[in-house]
Formats: sequence, C-alpha cells, structure tokens
Amino acid sequence: MDFIRYAEAAAALLNADLAEVDGLAAYLDDRPRLRERASDRDCMLLRKLQRELRPVFEDGEVGDVAAVVDGLNGLLARHPMVPQISDHDARLHLHVGTGSSSVAEQLTGESLLGLSTLVCDLGADRLGVCQSAPCTNAFVDASPNRSRRYCSDRCASRVNVAAYRARRRAAVVDAVVDTGHAESYTG
Ligand SMILES: [Zn+2]
Ligand SMILES: [Zn+2]
Repeated sequence: MDFIRYAEAAAALLNADLAEVDGLAAYLDDRPRLRERASDRDCMLLRKLQRELRPVFEDGEVGDVAAVVDGLNGLLARHPMVPQISDHDARLHLHVGTGSSSVAEQLTGESLLGLSTLVCDLGADRLGVCQSAPCTNAFVDASPNRSRRYCSDRCASRVNVAAYRARRRAAVVDAVVDTGHAESYTG
C-alpha cells in the first residue's frame, strides 16, 4: 500500500461534495469498479466520516499530536477493517477490505490506514487545513520540509495575489503622501 497516496485520497474525500451520490461517483472517477457500486447509503456513511475526520486535520494543523492520535485511534476502533495482501499488479501490497466490503467500508479503511501510517512515519503535523480563507479544505503535507500551508496551487496563488495587491496599495498610498509633501514644498 502506498500510504501517502491513500492519505492524500483521504484528504480529497474530506473535501469532496458528497451531498449526492453523483459527488461520490465523481470522486471515484478513476476507480470504475468502486464507482459502479457506490450507493446513497455509502454516501451517507462517508458524509459521517467527513464529519468525524475533520477535527483530526484541525488538530494536526495546530500541531496537537495527542489529539490527532486520540482521534485516529477512536476512528480505527469504530471502523474495524480487513487488510489483505494482494498481488494483482505484480507486486505484493496491502489492500483494505474484501470483495464483500461496501464502498464506504473500503474508502473508510483506506483513509484511516493511510492517515495512521502517515502520522506514524512522518508525524501528526502532516495533516493540515488550508490557510487561504475562505477555503477550509483539508490536506496532507508530504513535502520534504513540512512547509505546506494551502490545499492547492490555486489557493497558494490567491494568497500571493492578495499580498501583492496589498503591497501595491501601500506603495500607491506612499506615493500620494510623497506627492503631497512635494506640492507643499513647491507651493
Ligand atoms: Zn492494489
Ligand atoms: Zn484551499
């Protein structure tokens, strides 16, 4: 199992619009075998998972390791899973769930195992919430130096553009003040 990929998929699941089963189908766009089995019930269970997982990312954002660990342990206890070794792509790796698992069970298992492994291997502060208001998307920080603050390049550039405009406004105000001085000297 590529735990970073599963952890990133968990953040994407948290950010997905699951109001309708269409939203779950869109999230599963690249996983047709799961997508065709997705039901309203899966959607409802995954909305519940979204509500349960969000505080874990918020705790990670503020670096509260104990709260992240408590949150994930609580979720792991509430959502028992069946890890299985698979060789379907010519290398042995872990899958979560069996053919009889529901879509919600499988995605929940993958999310929790991915996030738990990430937290153990890289640290609890690798879970975060986007700092580009009004966006509140969750993200996983797999960067080498734990520098990530935004969910996406789009949010990072929105912050950069806003900062640039603020600097420009400040520069214009300075220029007006300077001009005012200049006129008072000449006048
Ligand atoms: Zn596989
Ligand atoms: Zn964002």
